Amino acid sequence: MIPLKDYISRFRSDSSKESSQSLAKNDSLKISVHPCRLGLGVFAIEDIAAGEYVAGFYGEIYSAGRASLLPMAVANHAIQFSAHVWRDSFGIARLFNHSCEPNCYIKGDFDIVTLRHIAAGEELTWDYSTTENCDWVVPGKTCLCRSNRCRGTIPPYRHLSHSEQVTIAPRTSDWLRSAGAVTSLQKKTPDRVPKSGLRLSGA
Ligand SMILES: [Zn+2]
Repeated sequence: MIPLKDYISRFRSDSSKESSQSLAKNDSLKISVHPCRLGLGVFAIEDIAAGEYVAGFYGEIYSAGRASLLPMAVANHAIQFSAHVWRDSFGIARLFNHSCEPNCYIKGDFDIVTLRHIAAGEELTWDYSTTENCDWVVPGKTCLCRSNRCRGTIPPYRHLSHSEQVTIAPRTSDWLRSAGAVTSLQKKTPDRVPKSGLRLSGA
């Protein structure tokens, strides 16, 4: 873990950090970063099968009382994996955009895995509400995913309705499951295959 102060000065001295983000050792060679309507996004270069690992959060770890105390660059790109702990990536995992109807999910706490077959040219996304349970707020406060199931915002997990938590239970990250929030829901939900009929590999 590096001191936040050091990280902030390092980040400020390199404003091209995001646009030059390169693949980490374990990132899939089937994806790359491209400009999109939201700034930058991660896109498939070729077709990717369902259940495939594409990138992961295996970078620096940060702890803070709440997300709003983290540097913006960390809060907007790292993934939460405990009540007060976040992890960034050295690769392009940090540049995946959110969608309320994603084509990827977080397996365990750090791995981005495809939910379904993804065609070349498609943007890869995951649902931030399946991992974040903090005071982070999307810039502009409005979700811009444009999906038919858009919630209008990107709420923390605890602000989702009970039925919504049940729906996303198969793709909710392990730390929220182990916190007990999901475990109690699963007992009431024998059918864990989401409405879309997608089957989650290993979830
Ligand atoms: Zn949305």
